[in-house]
Amino acid sequence: MTHIQKNKKNRQLFFTYSILTNLCQVFLTFRPFSATIPSQEANIKSSFMADSAPKSQFPGMEEEVLQFWQTNQIFEQSITKDAPHGDYVFYDGPPFATGTPHYGHLVGSIIKDVVPRFWTMKGYRVERKWGWDCHGLPIENIIEKDLGFKTKQDIVSYGVDKFNAACRERVLEYAEDWQKTITRLGRWADMTSPYRTMDLPYMESVWSVFKKLYDQGLIYEGYRSMYVCPRCETTLSQSEVSEGYRDIKDLSAIAKFELADDPGTFVLAWTTTPWTLIANVALAVGADIDYVTVELATERFVLAKSRVADLFKDQAITIINELKGSELVGKKYQPVFDYYAQDQALKNHASGWQILAADFVTTEDGTGVVHIAPAFGEDDLNLGKAYELPFIQHLGMDGIIKSEAGDFAGLSVKPIDDHSSTDVAIIKYLAGKKLLFSKAKYEHSYPHCWRCDTPLINYATGSWFVKVTDLKPTALAAAETINWSPAHIKDGRFGQWLTGARDWSISRQRFWASCLPIWKCGSCSKFQVFGSIAELEEASGLKITDLHKDTLDPIELSCSCGGQMKRIPDVLDCWFESGSMPYAQLHYPFENQEKFNQTFPAKFIAEGQDQTRTWFYYLHIIASGLMQKAAFQNVIVNGIVLAEDGKKMSKKLKNYPDPNEILDHYGADALRLYLLASPVMQAENLSFSAKGVEESLRKNIMLLWNIYKFYEPYATELRDECPAEHVLDKWIISLSHQLVNEVTEAMLAYDLPSAVRPITKFIDDFSTWYLRRSRDRFKGAGADKDQALAVTSHTLRTLALVLAPFAPFIAETLWHKLLGHNFAQGSTSVHLQAWPSAGDIDTQVIEDMKLVRQIVELGLAARDKAGIKIRQTLASAQIHNRQLAADYLELIKDELNVLSLTCAGSAGDLSVTLDTVLTPELELLGAERELVRAVNGLRKSAGLTIADRITVYYQSSSDLFARFDAQVITELAEQTLSQSWQAGELAEPSLASTELNLLNQTISLKIIKV
Ligand SMILES: [Zn+2]
Ligand SMILES: [Zn+2]
Repeated sequence: MTHIQKNKKNRQLFFTYSILTNLCQVFLTFRPFSATIPSQEANIKSSFMADSAPKSQFPGMEEEVLQFWQTNQIFEQSITKDAPHGDYVFYDGPPFATGTPHYGHLVGSIIKDVVPRFWTMKGYRVERKWGWDCHGLPIENIIEKDLGFKTKQDIVSYGVDKFNAACRERVLEYAEDWQKTITRLGRWADMTSPYRTMDLPYMESVWSVFKKLYDQGLIYEGYRSMYVCPRCETTLSQSEVSEGYRDIKDLSAIAKFELADDPGTFVLAWTTTPWTLIANVALAVGADIDYVTVELATERFVLAKSRVADLFKDQAITIINELKGSELVGKKYQPVFDYYAQDQALKNHASGWQILAADFVTTEDGTGVVHIAPAFGEDDLNLGKAYELPFIQHLGMDGIIKSEAGDFAGLSVKPIDDHSSTDVAIIKYLAGKKLLFSKAKYEHSYPHCWRCDTPLINYATGSWFVKVTDLKPTALAAAETINWSPAHIKDGRFGQWLTGARDWSISRQRFWASCLPIWKCGSCSKFQVFGSIAELEEASGLKITDLHKDTLDPIELSCSCGGQMKRIPDVLDCWFESGSMPYAQLHYPFENQEKFNQTFPAKFIAEGQDQTRTWFYYLHIIASGLMQKAAFQNVIVNGIVLAEDGKKMSKKLKNYPDPNEILDHYGADALRLYLLASPVMQAENLSFSAKGVEESLRKNIMLLWNIYKFYEPYATELRDECPAEHVLDKWIISLSHQLVNEVTEAMLAYDLPSAVRPITKFIDDFSTWYLRRSRDRFKGAGADKDQALAVTSHTLRTLALVLAPFAPFIAETLWHKLLGHNFAQGSTSVHLQAWPSAGDIDTQVIEDMKLVRQIVELGLAARDKAGIKIRQTLASAQIHNRQLAADYLELIKDELNVLSLTCAGSAGDLSVTLDTVLTPELELLGAERELVRAVNGLRKSAGLTIADRITVYYQSSSDLFARFDAQVITELAEQTLSQSWQAGELAEPSLASTELNLLNQTISLKIIKV
C-alpha cells in the first residue's frame, strides 16, 4: 500500500507539471491579463521574425505601465524624492535629430537608463537632462541637397541667413519620433527642457569656454598641412579624418626629373598623388642612402641602389656609378611642369627644383627619392619652410585646378565620381613628354569626408587650433582617474589616441554652427576675442540676440589704432560645442554656478565606441584645459549593432527589422535584456537577431510571468514574514541573496552583462527547480504551504526589485501585482523603492542542492540509456560515493520517479544506478501516466483551458483497463480534469482523438467537452 500512496503523490505532481508546461507553450497566444490591451494579434510579420512568433501579450502590458508612469509622474518623483546620498551626475551626449533613432542609439539609451535607475534605487538623485546636437555638416548637407546646391558658393549666393534659417527649421525634424521611441523603450529622460547646441545661452557658454582656453594661450592660429573636404570646402579635425578611411584603387606614377647639368640623366621619383606633380618644387633623398646611376639604352636613371632589382626586373642595365644621397644634394633638375617655373616673380624661385636631403626618405617602396610639393603634405610644408622653397598651390580648397595650370585648369583633383581621372590626365601628359618612367595600379587606405564621402585632399591652409600638445600632461594625468568599461579602452583605444593626439583644428569654413568669437583689425592685425554677449554688446553698441554667422559677420568694430575690425569668418567644430556641454547645458558661468560646482565632473557617461576619439575625447580635452581634471569618472562604451548576417545595418538593403517593430512585437523588456546580456555592452560588435530577442522573452519575461501566474491564485494576502525551514525555501532564499550580491557588484563595476546574466539564471532556477519541486506544497495545507507561499512571494518581490533597472516594465507589473496595487492612481512604483540588500547566504544548502541536481541529471541520463521513459516509475535507485540528508533524497526520488533511494559510500566518483526491472505493478503505474499525458495532450491540441471539463472515451484491444482498480480510474479523471472516463465507442464527433500503444495493446482515446 505504501507504494500506491507514494505514487499518488508522484502522479499529482506529474499532472500539475504537464498542465503548466502546456500553459507555458501556449502562453504566447493566450492573454488572460487585462481587458484594456488592444487586440492586435499575430498580424505583424516581417522576414526577420519567425512565423511561430505571434505578438505576445507583454507589449500591451508595457503600455499599461507607461500609462501608470506618466499619470503618476513616477520619473519626476524619482528625482524629487528624498535622496540620502545626494546627486549622482549623468551627462547625456547629444544625438542629431536629422533621422530616426537606430539600434546604436537604443543600445546607448538602455545603458543610460539602467545605470541611473540603479543609482536612484541606491538612494541618489539622478537628473537626466536630454540634449540635441543641432549644428554642423549633417544638417547643412541635408539642406544643400534639398536646395539642389552643388558647391559652397551656392550657399553664399542663396544667403547665409536664409540657409541657416532652413537648417534651424529642419534640425529637430525627427525629435518627436525620438521621443516616442525613447519613451517606449522605457528610458527615463527629461526631454521637455533639453539643452540644444543652437540656443543662445548654450552658444554663449561655448564662447566662454573658448575665451578661457584662449586666455590661457591654448588657442592659436596656424598654417598647416591639413585634410580638407573639397566639396564641403572646409578643414577637418584629426578625428573626423580618422573616421573616413577606406581602401581605394589609385594610379601611382614614377616621373623622370632630368638633371640640369647632365642631360639624358633622370632622377626617378614615385608618387601616389600624380596631381601634386604640378606643384613639385624639390626632390628629397636620404643623405646616407646608397644611390646608383643605371644605364638603359640611351637613358640614365638615378635611384636608390636597393630599389634597382624591383624597378628594372630582367632588363639589360648597366650600373655606371654608385654614390651617397649627400652627393646628390644641391643638384638642380628640369621641372616636369613649367606653369609656375616660368614665372620668375614666384617667391623663392631661385631655390626651387633642386635635390635636398630629408630624414623622412626611406627605400621601402618607390625609388628612394621623394617628390616635394609643400602645399600638399606635412613633411613637404616643413621642408619648404626650412629651405625657403617656392610655394605652389595650383588648386583652391574646392579641389579645382586654377587657370595658371593651363592644360589642366578646371579639373577637380579628386572628384567623387571618378577619383583618379585627373591623375590619368597627368600621367598621359607625362607619357607624351617622355617624362613617365612607369605607372601602376595602387590600392591604399585613403581618407574620405565623414559626411559627404568625397575623397579628402591634403592641403596647406590657415586654421585655428587648440594646443592639445601643451595640454597633454594634464590630460594624461586626468585620464588616469577615469574608470572604463570595458577596461581595455582606457590604455587602448582612448589612451593611445590621447597619447598620439595632435593640436585640434577647431575652425571650419562653414555656416550653421557656433562662431569663432574673434575679430581682427584690418590695419594693425590685432585680435579681439569675446567670451560673452555682454562683451560684444559693449564693444559694438548693439543688442545681440543671436550668435550665428549671419548675425555676427556684418558686425564691424573699431580698433584702437583707428582701423576696422572684422570677424574671422570661420565657425567652430561642432565637437567643440558638444565637448562644452557640462558648462553650456547650465549656461555656466552666466547662471547656475552653484549647480555647476555640484555637477562637475559627471559620475557617469555612456556612448558608442566611435565616441572614444570624439565626444569622450573632446569632453576630456576641454575639461583638462578648463578644470584641469577629467569631465567624467565612469564610462561605458558600447559596440556596434550589425545586421544578422554580420554586415553593416543598411537602410538601403533593409537587412534588419525596424526597432519599433521589435518593440511592438516582443516588448521593450525583452529587447533590453537581449542587448544587455550581449557583448555589445562591452564595446564588441553584435549581429542583431530577432530570434535572440524572442529567446530573451521566453527565458526571462515569460518564465518569470509563468511563475507569477502559478502563484497568483494563492496570493490572498501579503506575507512579510519569511521563515525558511524547508530545504527548498532555504535554498531559494540563499540563492536570491547571492543574486542581489552578484548584481550589485557587477553594477558597481559598470559591467552590465555580468549584472543581467545571473538574473536569467536565477529565474530558471526559481522556475525549473524551486517551483517545480514545491508544487505539492502549494496544493497542500498548513504551515508548510504558508511557508512555500511566503517564500515565493518574498522571492518574487526581491526579483522585481533586482529586475527594475534592467526590465523596468515587468518589474513594475510584478511589483503591483504582488502588492495588490494594480496600477491604482497614486500607488507606489518599484522604481521608487530602495535597492535590496542581501541577507545571509547558506552556502552549504547551495552546495548540497547543486549535488542534488547533479544526481538527478545522472539518474535521468541512466534512464535515458536504459530507454525507460521518466513516466515509468522504477523500484529503486542508488547513489554511489555521496551522502545526503533525507530532505534532499526525497527531492531526488520525486524527480527520478523511483520508489526508493539509497546512498552508499562517501568517497570516489559520484555515480547513480537504477533498478530497471519492471514488475507488472510498475508497468501499470507507467501506463497510467502515459494515459494522463496523452489526454492532457489532447486537451492542449483542442485548445482547452484549466476551466474546461471533459469526458474521455477509451477503447482497448484487451484488458488494460480491467487491470486498473476503481481508484486508478478516479485518479485518471482527476488528473485530466475529466468528469468521467468511459469505455466504448463515442457516437458524436470528438474534440480530439489519438491512439497509443501501451503494454503491447492498442488504446484509442477520444475526448468531448462537457
Ligand atoms: Zn564633405
Ligand atoms: Zn588696429
